[in-house]
Amino acid sequence: MTGSFVYSEKPIRIESGSGPYLYDDAGNEYLDFGASYGVAAVGHAHPEVVGAVESQVGKLTFVQASYPNSARDALYEKLGAVAPHHLENVWLCNSGTEANEAALKFARSATGNSKIIAAQRGFHGRTMGSLAATWKPKYKKPFEPLAADFEFVPFGDEDALADAVDDETAAVLLEPIQGEGGVNPAPEGYLQAAREVTEETGAALILDEIQTGLGRTGSLWACEKRGVVPDVLTSAKGLGGGLPVGATLCADWIAEESGPHGSTFSGGPVVSAAAEATLSAIVEDDLAGNAGQVGDYLQSKLRGGELPIRTVRGEGLLLGVEVGRGANRVLKQLAMDHGILALPAGRSVVRLLPPLTVEEAHADALVSALGDALAEVSA
Ligand SMILES: *Cc1c(COP(=O)(O)O)cnc(C)c1O
Repeated sequence: MTGSFVYSEKPIRIESGSGPYLYDDAGNEYLDFGASYGVAAVGHAHPEVVGAVESQVGKLTFVQASYPNSARDALYEKLGAVAPHHLENVWLCNSGTEANEAALKFARSATGNSKIIAAQRGFHGRTMGSLAATWKPKYKKPFEPLAADFEFVPFGDEDALADAVDDETAAVLLEPIQGEGGVNPAPEGYLQAAREVTEETGAALILDEIQTGLGRTGSLWACEKRGVVPDVLTSAKGLGGGLPVGATLCADWIAEESGPHGSTFSGGPVVSAAAEATLSAIVEDDLAGNAGQVGDYLQSKLRGGELPIRTVRGEGLLLGVEVGRGANRVLKQLAMDHGILALPAGRSVVRLLPPLTVEEAHADALVSALGDALAEVSA
């Protein structure tokens, strides 16, 4: 049996992990600046997460979400403490795309409209609804027709957004910083403009914080820094400390008319325990503060390091380094010769998305290895 028809296999076999490090089957160490797309936000095998999972799994591995359960209640309480103001309702699920899928359904149900406005170069997941809101034609073409009534506007253009949104619009769906699309932060004022135009027409503002949330950009949520509270916020990736958890946080007006929805595995006790422990670690260790500080340090080193790079974009520990063509060659060199794993974002951008626990010494190691890898690739 093989799974390689979906995932092209890398030449490294990963067998264990600890903090910001991964280890292959020969015991080689890799500094993980990709964190499996941000899943390892609190690092690998975080002791509190491991402990929470171990003690829950033997007590009650699963019960479905209509039975109240103390592990799920503890997660609800913790999420309530970190959620942006007014987002006091949550639906738990198993992945990012599922969190967005629910957000789109809830917004359609609550507004009675169907039109969804999304942004060019946005990424929201791979199921039929979230994929319809995703920009890249390559991801969509073979699977069309997808869900209907999706429209795209250029990301960052306030006027185009204001023109697209009308009183038939169910929702505007945006990432505060586009991750997959090349690490593009929303320009100053753009999310506020999206908030205003949706308020005027009665559409829902959905912010996809699956990549930007949980402290990665230096504040708990990227929308917080911009002074914007959406009607729906989606989270996933790092939320479960490595276990599959997603969350759709909603304002009352969305929750009250959200329509019938559900998922068998929604909010199981084991993933709830993992997510509660993960959120506790993020809050108690101020990992948002650390991400802001180490992220700033890393940006200044990248800029000041005389590296042959074009630009550095992003905030906190979500950074895109424009290296010209061939990001994949640079990434391969980084992995094989320098023991550092990172991610691409399109063809020419190296995306840095390490655990939020990394320190300045790890940033130094990355900058020095990236400089060497860039020299080696162009040699
Ligand atoms: C990864 C990602 C998703 C999809 O999450 P999955 O868990 O892979 O379904 C959606 N939106 C954004 C911004 C993401 O980065």
